[in-house]
Amino acid sequence: MSQPGDITLEARNIHVAFGGIHALSGVDLTVSRGIVQGLIGPNGAGKTTLVNVLSGFQSPTRGHVILKDRDVSQDGPQKMARAGVGRSFQAARLFQDLTVSQNLMTAAIGTGLGMAAARERSESVLEWMELSHLAEQMGGSLSYGDERRISIARALALNPHFLLLDEPASGMNDAECQTLMRLIRDIPARFECGVLLIEHNMEVIMGVCQRVHVLDGGRSLAEGSPQEVQNNPDVRRAYLGDDAGNEAA
Ligand code: ATP
Repeated sequence: MSQPGDITLEARNIHVAFGGIHALSGVDLTVSRGIVQGLIGPNGAGKTTLVNVLSGFQSPTRGHVILKDRDVSQDGPQKMARAGVGRSFQAARLFQDLTVSQNLMTAAIGTGLGMAAARERSESVLEWMELSHLAEQMGGSLSYGDERRISIARALALNPHFLLLDEPASGMNDAECQTLMRLIRDIPARFECGVLLIEHNMEVIMGVCQRVHVLDGGRSLAEGSPQEVQNNPDVRRAYLGDDAGNEAA
């Protein structure tokens, strides 16, 4: 749990129903700055729905989202982004006919920066991610892996207090995964933010997260260190399987 004075992004007793489907039922989760928190669970567990709620893309049916002690449950995605919640999507959503640099600058300008400061921030994020060589490429001309990395860069161009990453390693090969893991590990210190990471690749989760939250059927099943979660019998039964190895789901 968070300590007094910590800056946190909190889901409190979140319920989301789509007609008769209860995607989330009474979920509590706190993302703290300075750490990478994993969010895992079987397909359909409610992970993306929770990230949608935490980033303003989905209003909860019940419950509250609290950002820095303020109720932001109904603020919507633009306001949440301006308030410091950045996210990437399972499918990267770059502007195809803008350059990479323009894609990042658009995000930065959305937080209130002028052109020069937005350009500076965009350049600094690309340089830090060792992606400066892509700056003038069109969003629509990127390879799959580059597109996913630029989607993270664009979220970082918001200079977020919290970064929500939805399966960033999906479709990446081993080498790309390793590079991505190093990057995610370094994000909290470099950007003074907290990261919530949805990922099916357990090697990535175990390799980069300080804490892991497990959802199952829209409910919280467990939370703890990666080791605690991996050893939790309920988690092993519901998600990892009895012969829990490096891969799941
Ligand atoms: P995955 O790992 O497959 O991406 P997930 O854990 O992210 O799954 P969600 O995508 O959040 O799970 O879905 C949770 C449940 O809510 C599922 O039963 C899904 O079919 C349902 N659901 C999600 N979005 C909608 C929607 N817009 N309308 C109706 N049902 C939805």
